[in-house]
Amino acid sequence: MATLELQGELQQAFTKVHQPREGAWSGHITMAGGAQLQVPLPPRYTELTPEETALAIARAKERLGSRLVISGHHYQREEVIRWADFRGDSFKLCKDAAARPDADYIVFCGVHFMAESADILSAPHQKVILPDLHAGCSMADMADIDQVEEAWDALQEVCAGQRIIPITYMNSAANLKAFVGRNGGAVCTSSNARKIMEWALKPIDDGGAGGEKLLFFPDQHLGRNTALLEMGFKPEDCVVWNPFEDLGGQDEATLRRAPILLWKGHCSVHGTFMPIHVDNIRKRYPGIKVVVHPECIYEVVTKADAYGSTEKIKHIIEAGQPGEVFAVGTEINLVSRLAQENPDKTVVCLNPNVCVCSTMYRVDGPHLLWVLENLLEAHVVNQIVVPEPIASQAKLALQRMLDIA
Ligand code: SF4
Repeated sequence: MATLELQGELQQAFTKVHQPREGAWSGHITMAGGAQLQVPLPPRYTELTPEETALAIARAKERLGSRLVISGHHYQREEVIRWADFRGDSFKLCKDAAARPDADYIVFCGVHFMAESADILSAPHQKVILPDLHAGCSMADMADIDQVEEAWDALQEVCAGQRIIPITYMNSAANLKAFVGRNGGAVCTSSNARKIMEWALKPIDDGGAGGEKLLFFPDQHLGRNTALLEMGFKPEDCVVWNPFEDLGGQDEATLRRAPILLWKGHCSVHGTFMPIHVDNIRKRYPGIKVVVHPECIYEVVTKADAYGSTEKIKHIIEAGQPGEVFAVGTEINLVSRLAQENPDKTVVCLNPNVCVCSTMYRVDGPHLLWVLENLLEAHVVNQIVVPEPIASQAKLALQRMLDIA
């Protein structure tokens, strides 16, 4: 049950965004993972040609030297990721950046929740910068902290006497990770979801969290795919909590019975892949191997030959035989890059329509150049800062994951 004190803390669960340049910005405070405000770029940045932008980025990066590390998520566009010192999924990037304590600035080319996690896991002197503050994540935004607190209170009442362990996917705002941390739960990624969910339901004497049930945020599909395909649960064991309906749209008996409660959230990119796409691509390319991300719906994942995190998808294709044909169910920038980097194989997107993550796409060459040139002038723009106690509580949930997985 959330106390008044905790609710007060939650109201302060803001991410401060500093724009210290005199006259250009007076400071902006926004809910972690929520709506953002990005100042328009000075015209110079939008007037440069792509070649001029690239040249200027190269110069700025060289001048900043080891004080700068650029992290690039797999879903970033080519004009951005080519400058990344590290490429990877969100958690790998946070770990990579933390391994560079000599860097004062971590420019995180990804989305808001990733920059928050990088800030939480980085050293105190490091400043994390998101090139475009509009780069959010629709999935992370589906688990609003007020709705989460309301759901938690209702479940504590309906399921009185049952221990519920909250688990959140890495793709969530810092205030949700903090909620999970202070309520005995842990963060998970798409590669360790099974281990974390098993820990949640394992008796305390066996090193688990002793939960009778778990509440999984915000991606119902990762939670369901893991429970059904890797943990032996049945469809009726998994119940979806819809935050816009009374009692999540369920009756009390169902909530008490179900061991797996799934928050009604999804990824707008991976949700576009449908079973018909798998059927069609198999007809078009007999013998094709279909590999998808576990944020896809269960009916797609069960039709695929393999599924896994972006890192796993990458490894599967790299380990494929020359001449092999793959259909990949994930964001188009990664699919295109995999095709380019594996010229001895054929790599196509599972969905014939382009599946771009529109928020990832907001980070472009001009925004990257803008933050770098500001750094050259000792102006830190678009810094992402997760304040206390949110940062410590979120770190607790992240640390539990590291200890378990
Ligand atoms: S691909 Fe999906 S989960 Fe990833 S950042 Fe985009 S909307 Fe969020």
